[in-house]
Amino acid sequence: MAYICFSCKAEVGEEYTRIRVRCPYCGNKLLLKTRSDSVTVKAR
Ligand SMILES: [Zn+2]
Repeated sequence: MAYICFSCKAEVGEEYTRIRVRCPYCGNKLLLKTRSDSVTVKAR
């Protein structure tokens, strides 16, 4: 189960979401779950 950073689109491991949800690459706090229909994706 991984997440995608909403800002830089990097794949963020679940371990980064346990303590606090933050992208380790850019510091963005908004991550998208990669699982099925709960994912919000803006096309292109
Ligand atoms: Zn990021």
